[in-house]
Amino acid sequence: MSQRRTLIAGNWKMNGQKADGLALAKGVAEKLAGAKPNCDLLVCPPTTLVGLVAEAVKGSGLHVGGQDCHAKVSGAHTGDSSAAALADLGCTYVIVGHSERRTDHAESDAVVKAKAEAAIAAGLVAIVCIGETLAQRDAGQTIEVNRSQLVGSLPAGATAANTVIAYEPVWAIGTGRVATPAQAQEVHAAIRAELVKALGAEAAGAMRILYGGSMKPDNAKELLALPDVDGGLIGGASLKVADFWAIAESC
Ligand code: PGA
Repeated sequence: MSQRRTLIAGNWKMNGQKADGLALAKGVAEKLAGAKPNCDLLVCPPTTLVGLVAEAVKGSGLHVGGQDCHAKVSGAHTGDSSAAALADLGCTYVIVGHSERRTDHAESDAVVKAKAEAAIAAGLVAIVCIGETLAQRDAGQTIEVNRSQLVGSLPAGATAANTVIAYEPVWAIGTGRVATPAQAQEVHAAIRAELVKALGAEAAGAMRILYGGSMKPDNAKELLALPDVDGGLIGGASLKVADFWAIAESC
């Protein structure tokens, strides 16, 4: 049995304003007050809502995270947010290197690595995202692409306590097309093997690897039961309390 505690993380992306964001976060926190699922629960609202949400759920056991941070601590970086500022608002996690940021903002592995290192330095847990496109999968490059993104994005000083890996096949994100259990387990096992090489067996064995990409209440149980899947990074289904909670309950 794995010693890794499952992490169910909601990535709200650029969705929600004050009223609906607060209702969603409070709805999840209220569920948590009534029942303790067998996992850690995290919501990552847009930066505009992080402070409000963190205040609203304080003390509930629901973790709050950012969706991105800058690699620098402060300075002339208009529109960006530092990891320390997220921590100051009450965040304990931050997602870095999501494929939408790699695409929309041309973030390279080196940039993602620097952001993850900034996150760790600020006391946050970095959720480092990697994943292949459909063209790369079709070309038989899945394992190599994920291996190289992992090696390039893994922060220096990564431990199981300060880093989480999220495998998110780009073709499964927001498409309703989920990876099969065999596809997910194959990549997760390859990521774990690469982590063993980079960090040693003990740290690699303790590090959580999340699956992301169209995880829903009806497919979560099967994915979360896989030996190397230690949780989920959930987009669409994290925007409804009932769906997010149903996934948490399937841990
Ligand atoms: P999805 O998004 O669950 O809507 O596919 C997952 C993600 O991008 O983190």
